[in-house]
Amino acid sequence: MRFWRWGKRGTRDSRPNYVVRNRESIVLKPVFVETIPQLPEMEDRTLYVSMRFATLSHLCPCGCGRLVDVTLDPATRSLTYDGEYLTLRPSIGVKFPCRSHYSIVRNAIIWYRPISKWEARWYNRVRARWS
Ligand SMILES: [Zn+2]
Repeated sequence: MRFWRWGKRGTRDSRPNYVVRNRESIVLKPVFVETIPQLPEMEDRTLYVSMRFATLSHLCPCGCGRLVDVTLDPATRSLTYDGEYLTLRPSIGVKFPCRSHYSIVRNAIIWYRPISKWEARWYNRVRARWS
């Protein structure tokens, strides 16, 4: 049974956003910094949060080694941190070839299906407009 409404083909709503369970579970370590370190100094599985520049940076958790920069715009993103666990909503869709799609819930990566080429364009458009 389909519980979702099918959107137009190739749009963000055309397929359900199911959680991928058969991927390695990854736990990240949040680190609050003044400025985000340069790429060679960045460590894997570490979340660098700069409140001063309202940015969250980390290396793509799929292991492709690319840098994911998230602008913490309060209009579109919510970040919660209770001193130990960090949660970021909504999910992050990456336009790199790996097209990783995940969210960070209590320091852990929750994988969703990879975003499609068309969705990558949609995410880029959102990024261009909002950040
Ligand atoms: Zn990747």
